[in-house]
Amino acid sequence: MSDRDPDCLFCKIVAGEIPSTRVDEDERTVAFMDINPATRGHALVIPRAHSANLLEIDAEELAATVAAAQRLARTAVERFGADGVNLINSCGSAAWQTVFHFHIHVIPRYEGDPMRLPWTPSPGDPDEIAAAAAQLR
Ligand code: AMP
Ligand code: ZN
Repeated sequence: MSDRDPDCLFCKIVAGEIPSTRVDEDERTVAFMDINPATRGHALVIPRAHSANLLEIDAEELAATVAAAQRLARTAVERFGADGVNLINSCGSAAWQTVFHFHIHVIPRYEGDPMRLPWTPSPGDPDEIAAAAAQLR
């Protein structure tokens, strides 16, 4: 974690050097609308301090950002009448991260909305699931 990365788009948004549509902020976090919304109300919550991703952010900054995402999710349900909310974090380009300043997508969901994940769940091999579990323990 560092206060600021001079080449980072979201650090520039925090500093107000690049315009954004802010919807919430506190001592540690800023929330603003995503310019490519997946659904109505799609916003991003970021820590003011720069961390590239989930692996780098310290636990206190992460907790503050998650709390801000929860606040925004509650507001979205209340104001938009959303039926649900997805919180999404992408960590690393293999996981589709495109902006390397930690952020949580807050995506209000509406029954029947067109958002889809490019992943079709199908049952895994039980031995392989157990082997992966053993590696995680
Ligand atoms: P990710 O792909 O998870 O790293 O998410 C980055 C998100 O930032 C994408 O959903 C983009 O639409 C969004 N984004 C990129 N530039 C801006 C910007 N200037 N203002 C608001 N959202 C942005
Ligand atoms: Zn940054």
